[in-house]
Amino acid sequence: MIGRILIGQLLTLLAFQGVFSAVSVALFWPDHTGMAALGGIVLATVLWRVVEMWRAMKVLRWLRDGGRGIAPERIGVWGEVGDRVRRLVREHERALEQSDGRLQDFLAAMQASPSGVVLLDAQGRIEWLNHTAAAHFGLHAQRDLLQYVLNLVRDPQFAEYMAAKDFSHDVLIPGKSSSASVPVRLSVQMHPYGDGRSLLLSRDVTALEQAEAMRRDFVANVSHEIRTPLTVLAGFVETLQSLPLAPTEQQHYLSLMEQQAQRMQTLVSDLLELSRLEGSPLPSMQQWVDLDPLLQNCAADADGLGRVLWGQAHVLSLDTTGVALAGHATELHSAIYNLVSNAVRYTPADKAIRILWQWFDDGSAALSVQDEGPGIPAEHLPRLTERFYRVDRSRSREAGGTGLGLAIVKHVAQRHGLELRIRSVVGQGSVFTLVFPATRLRRL
Ligand code: ADP
Repeated sequence: MIGRILIGQLLTLLAFQGVFSAVSVALFWPDHTGMAALGGIVLATVLWRVVEMWRAMKVLRWLRDGGRGIAPERIGVWGEVGDRVRRLVREHERALEQSDGRLQDFLAAMQASPSGVVLLDAQGRIEWLNHTAAAHFGLHAQRDLLQYVLNLVRDPQFAEYMAAKDFSHDVLIPGKSSSASVPVRLSVQMHPYGDGRSLLLSRDVTALEQAEAMRRDFVANVSHEIRTPLTVLAGFVETLQSLPLAPTEQQHYLSLMEQQAQRMQTLVSDLLELSRLEGSPLPSMQQWVDLDPLLQNCAADADGLGRVLWGQAHVLSLDTTGVALAGHATELHSAIYNLVSNAVRYTPADKAIRILWQWFDDGSAALSVQDEGPGIPAEHLPRLTERFYRVDRSRSREAGGTGLGLAIVKHVAQRHGLELRIRSVVGQGSVFTLVFPATRLRRL
């Protein structure tokens, strides 16, 4: 291609020179043919150069402006130069567009990351950060660019971590939005890369930490709950072994031991029930449980419990519902019996207990267990369904409570889409209500 152009250029130049020398010979010096021909050739060459330089200037000016748009020369060497430059510029622009696209994709991926990402230069200045990091550290994604991260994340533990330069582990610091009522804990770790640059990753570990604290509390609570009856049991065993007791005294101790063993048994079965509720699939909507027999069963058990605890059964009134509930029979029985047995355990036997059924206009309905017991002070109500939460520890123990009953009720309610409402007035009594959505109810 280039060879052809050069030959073309050469031939054109030769043609020019030929024409000029012929014209020069014919017009000016027919007598000095040699001189005239040479003069024509020189003139043609000079003119040729001037024209070529002028064309070169145009191409150079076009290049200086970025080589965009139509090339100023179409033919000859300069046309070819312009054409090739334009092709190169276009390829370069395409490559730039592609790498910019890749960079944007990469940044969008980092933006979508659930972790906070901050890119730092070798001096520890912020080069880029995603929205999550901005929220974690209280930074501004644009305004804080090129600021030193240590000037903006002002936490003593973070400063210590950065100074120690041991980035093999993370450091835990409070998030920017952390407060006493809503604590936020961040796990922050530096990952050095390239020529002194670093990637600062932050993760919100508040939920993890809370779960871990809950697990620790739970284990401590369970150990405590089991240790108490075990200690009592061990004491009685020792007494029986070491003291020469009369048969009636022995019987007395054995019945006390039975109570403690019973207490541990109840605790273990409540714990197993909770863990089953947490681990099993949600109850189906296809299984229907007749509510009236279930309530009668609970009432009969409550009767027996009342006799054991108070020496006599409560006056217990029971509405007839005439409905079936969609859900898991054992779970529903457990939730309702926990409410009824709480009423029995905390209400003196001369007071009334009612199990009430109420329909609402939207087709939903409520099952309430109402007692005339001591009632619960308002400040305890929000925490009643926490595991092992008790208003009065000793009264709960005396009544054979594990502190897990309402936690079980809450779980069953959540799994069945029911709402648990608690109303209580100290000195007047309490009402625990389960509200069933219309979709879980069928009239029989
Ligand atoms: P427990 O096994 O101790 O009864 P629950 O989870 O069933 O545990 O109840 C938590 C606490 O709520 C009880 O310790 C008790 O203080 C209080 N409580 C529950 N039901 C009643 C009620 N009907 N009347 C008064 N207090 C109640």
